[in-house]
Amino acid sequence: AERLTGRTALVTGSSRGMGRAAAIRLAQEGALVAVHYNRDEAAAREVVTSVEKDGGRAFAVRGELGVDGDVDGLFAVLEEDLRERTGSTDLHILVNNAGVMGGVGADEVTPEQFDRIFAVNAKAPFFLIQRALRNMPDGGRIINISSGLTRFANPDEIAYAMSKGALEQLALHFAKALGPRRITINSVAPGITRNGNPVFDIPEVVEQMAGLSAFGRVGEPEDVADVVAFLATDEARWITGSFVDATGGTLLG
Ligand code: NDP
Repeated sequence: AERLTGRTALVTGSSRGMGRAAAIRLAQEGALVAVHYNRDEAAAREVVTSVEKDGGRAFAVRGELGVDGDVDGLFAVLEEDLRERTGSTDLHILVNNAGVMGGVGADEVTPEQFDRIFAVNAKAPFFLIQRALRNMPDGGRIINISSGLTRFANPDEIAYAMSKGALEQLALHFAKALGPRRITINSVAPGITRNGNPVFDIPEVVEQMAGLSAFGRVGEPEDVADVVAFLATDEARWITGSFVDATGGTLLG
């Protein structure tokens, strides 16, 4: 049975990758999903079409995160879209998935790059939560996509890992504040997960990355999307403030 019928969801960065898979998965459970993207409108539309073909409901919403006015701009459009489709501006599920990697070593990252990583990965999720809480009914769900790199050393991604460490703090402190409203907030930490990055086309590199997981393969977007969908359901009502390891056993060492 569909577990999210009557719910609405915003998944940031769902034009591709794990966000896309999460949007599709939440729609399969019956949620009306806002497929948020920044640059790739065609990709976001493709996600909407694929949800609709499957009998689900979704719409695309654009907005660059990590810049002044980002959250208010996004919510102005989102509220209109929600009202049009549901007659209300209730938002039951927020998935903070959009994120940027650094890809530069600690010896060469610039202050501008550092600020950008924090603006998109940590600051935007904080203010999206702050804003979304005005629309979120009791029993709502907030899910933040962190990274196994908060517990797995990689000197090439220190600034990125710092930003995800900051993101993880949201679950701890907001969980306490939102308990009375039965709103849960959790961090999901993926390991290496297939996305559009060309490294996933190089078999030797994929084999090496696969070796990091206890299961001997890289993660697929759906591996993480299933975890996100579960946390969004009523069945996950007793889990809040958690770090959910969705790395396929990469953190086992
Ligand atoms: P992708 O890089 O494939 O996609 C990123 C998505 O975020 C796109 O939809 C993109 O939109 C959107 N986005 C990026 N920057 C912005 C911005 N400034 N404003 C608005 N939207 C933005 O994502 P992945 O599936 O690889 O990663 C999803 C999340 O998982 C991220 O938070 C990432 O840090 C995390 N993660 C990823 C891992 C991996 O191995 N892939 C491992 C661990 C964590 P558009 O393309 O339309 O511009």
